[in-house]
Amino acid sequence: MDFQRRGVMLVIASPSGAGKSSISRSLFQQDPNIRLSVSVTTRARRSDEVDGTHYHFIDVPTFKRMQAEDGLLESAEVHGNYYGTPRAQVEEQLAAGNDILFDVDYQGTLQLYEKCRHDMVTVFILPPTIEELRARLERRAQDSVGTIEKRLRNARIELDHAGEYEYVIINRDLEQSVQNVRSILAAARLKRERQVNFASFIIDLQSQIDSL
Ligand code: 5GP
Repeated sequence: MDFQRRGVMLVIASPSGAGKSSISRSLFQQDPNIRLSVSVTTRARRSDEVDGTHYHFIDVPTFKRMQAEDGLLESAEVHGNYYGTPRAQVEEQLAAGNDILFDVDYQGTLQLYEKCRHDMVTVFILPPTIEELRARLERRAQDSVGTIEKRLRNARIELDHAGEYEYVIINRDLEQSVQNVRSILAAARLKRERQVNFASFIIDLQSQIDSL
């Protein structure tokens, strides 16, 4: 007999550029049990993004319809665009024992927390300095100068919310940060309430003792 485990909802948040995407990518490569929650968004696709993999790129009317039909577990407006988490994929994956990684902002985290706190673990990634954050945004070279400034100003607001997350990591070294997230996830997977058949597992052990 073994434990049947319910999946973990792992929320990693950070100001854009702090390394969240690189950490997530590495996490996937190292751990086949993790699925990505693919959000819907109304923002324009960047040149290196694939529809259906990074996001489902949809228009505003489609987004509004999904929201009205309760098809989104959470949603938010970020940098003037709409983002949301489709509901169905989450429940399916959790029940199947797969962990789900979420890349949502603090507004999304709060909404998820209200609905799913027992399934969740939240981690906030911090840049070592703002100089480093700006350099990373510039190196990424996907956004215009105006967008970078907007993202930096938004970082200030995001930082106000770092205190709402359970775990905090300063991302100085990518591999170390990935290992830290993996440790957090490893502990979350072992929580008793996550083991769906915990009670029957104990009864089974006891009946084995009884039959000695
Ligand atoms: P980006 O446009 O750079 O991919 O993401 C911008 C911000 O939107 C990031 O802070 C990201 O975490 C957030 N975001 C992405 N998907 C979702 C989502 O489904 N819900 C919420 N609330 N935020 C999201």
